Amino acid sequence: MNIIIFGPPGAGKGTQSSFLVNKIKMFQLSTGDLLRAELKSGSELAKQLKEIMDAGKLVSDDIINELIEKKISDPQVKNNIIFDGFPRNLEQANALDGMLKKYDQKISAIINLKVDYSILVKRISGRISCSICKKPFNEFFDPPIEAKNCENNNCESRELIKRSDDNESTVSNRLKTYDEQTLPILDHYRSKGIVKDVDAMQSINDVTSQIEAIISDL
Ligand code: AMP
Repeated sequence: MNIIIFGPPGAGKGTQSSFLVNKIKMFQLSTGDLLRAELKSGSELAKQLKEIMDAGKLVSDDIINELIEKKISDPQVKNNIIFDGFPRNLEQANALDGMLKKYDQKISAIINLKVDYSILVKRISGRISCSICKKPFNEFFDPPIEAKNCENNNCESRELIKRSDDNESTVSNRLKTYDEQTLPILDHYRSKGIVKDVDAMQSINDVTSQIEAIISDL
């Protein structure tokens, strides 16, 4: 089973994916995480990527589709992927259809996290994560108990990291990009009958329960 976790920036895609990774051992394929890993290389490509990401725009489809094909063709994760942050426009959705066909796989559900945009700026600007285990927190809604030690995963001397694109000015551009390019692809999947809407305004645990119920019915 492959699924797509879908929704605007700040809807909780990463948070909910990590629950699924831990609970049902799926593989999380986050294009944002793969791009942020590339940023650390300091390469020429990394500089160009950072500029695009900090502007809240989309990175080119060729780069993204290549990253995705590398993973989708990997037998170790075959049919067990949560796509997080992909596809983000119609071209990527069409490319994904082609790759799924090529590697004999399918998408069982699009989990559509529905949230009011009014809360997203606060959710995103408060977002921080553990430098070691990557566990996400929110300075406003879900602060860490201790700054230096991670309560769940025994990470010691960690730092709490904030993404450079998690600031108010970039967020409004990211939401605009989402509305114009990403949201329209839901129709592509609605016509296949696989979109499952989730009320993502509820608490993290309640959202997880809704997703678990959907997955157990697949
Ligand atoms: P995310 O971590 O999913 O919020 O992504 C952070 C940034 O990475 C986005 O604002 C885009 O600039 C870039 N990005 C992530 N996924 C994609 C994608 N599928 N296509 C194009 N750009 C992406």
